[in-house]
Amino acid sequence: MKIAVIGGGIVGATTSFYLAQAGDDVTLFDYKIGQATSAAAGIISPWLSQRRNQDWYQLARAGAKFYPTLMTDLNVPLESNIYQQVGTILFKNNQSLLDKLYKIALKRREEAPEIGEIILLTPAEIQEKFPVLTPNMNGLFVSGGARVDGRQLIDQLVKSFKLLGGNYHETLVSDLRPLQSGWLVKTKGITKEYDKIVLGTGAWLPNLLHPLGFSVDVRGQKGQLVEVKIDADTDNWPVVMPQGESDIIPFANGKILIGATHENEQFYDLTVDTQIVTDMVASIRELSPELANSEHLNVRVGTRAYTSDFLPFFGEIAELPGLFVASGLGSSGLTTGPIIGHTMASWLHNKETELKVDRYSPTNYIRKI
Ligand SMILES: Cc1cc2nc3c(=O)[nH]c(=O)nc-3n(C[C@H](O)[C@H](O)[C@H](O)COP(=O)(O)OP(=O)(O)OC[C@H]3O[C@@H](n4cnc5c(N)ncnc54)[C@H](O)[C@@H]3O)c2cc1C
Repeated sequence: MKIAVIGGGIVGATTSFYLAQAGDDVTLFDYKIGQATSAAAGIISPWLSQRRNQDWYQLARAGAKFYPTLMTDLNVPLESNIYQQVGTILFKNNQSLLDKLYKIALKRREEAPEIGEIILLTPAEIQEKFPVLTPNMNGLFVSGGARVDGRQLIDQLVKSFKLLGGNYHETLVSDLRPLQSGWLVKTKGITKEYDKIVLGTGAWLPNLLHPLGFSVDVRGQKGQLVEVKIDADTDNWPVVMPQGESDIIPFANGKILIGATHENEQFYDLTVDTQIVTDMVASIRELSPELANSEHLNVRVGTRAYTSDFLPFFGEIAELPGLFVASGLGSSGLTTGPIIGHTMASWLHNKETELKVDRYSPTNYIRKI
């Protein structure tokens, strides 16, 4: 099959990789600008979330479980700079909330053993795992929590995709048209026909579907995140999730991410707001004065895609045969993206999938105008 995948974030890159692995003739077009995947914090730890929606939880759980398979398929070791299960420490405002969450985690582990160890840690035990924290309360640790470097993961997926014969163009697709049989894709320099199309265009999905006469329940949300550097061996430090917006995600060689903001009213704006960034870092001062005072290396800005009910959707659009879409992955899309990409690649080959597909149908989000 000749397939064009438009959008090279986590969804498009994973779908392209698995389609190329299945022997398809795949071309991936990615504009890159604003991409959420490259800006993301990289926390993979859905089990401690208090979101009640079961459809979301089952998808996020399946996504977290799928990561080791993806790494194996990419020939990446399970402990690498791209992905590593370093564990997650979560804080709550009071001990009774933490105890409640501890019980929820134990219950969830019955069907999700990948959570690993679940331990209530004292402030001293937390400091042993993360020396620059100064907590005055207990925290909940789960060993299966991981951190992933979205940018490096995309690079690896695209590299493996190209080795499998995939074609890659860093460019904007400006137009998409259905033909008698198949689809026409246009960029500034290319006009080409394909049998099937996959749209992994994140928050920009409406731009390609509006001209085809469809409304899309997706909007952009700005996220800012700070990279700081400290002089410490941070390679195996766990991810820390304090109460509030600012999570702390350590990577190798002293690099630590702090963030991220959720700015609904800023939509697709990609400028750095220094005041918001300063406030975000200041919010962790009590938990870690050293991190709050550390040198800022960079600020990342990306655009998440949101739907009205905060759930992702993916699948074929009934009125547009051969056009598959995935969007609305919100703030947990690095967790759910790979399993969504893998599932889409399987559908294109009419293969059975683990996920219950009707739960995430695009029908409720994409309507003929
Ligand atoms: C600051 C921040 C922190 C986050 N932290 C986490 C986290 O800790 N854990 C987690 O699980 N998730 C996190 N997320 C969410 C996650 O990053 C996203 O949900 C996920 O990456 C979305 O992937 P995607 O492939 O759908 O879209 P994107 O990654 O946005 O990719 C879409 C791509 O399509 C391209 N594109 C759009 N239109 C066109 C076109 N016409 N032609 C060609 N290319 C086009 C764009 O340029 C972009 O590169 C975070 C997001 C942000 C912004």
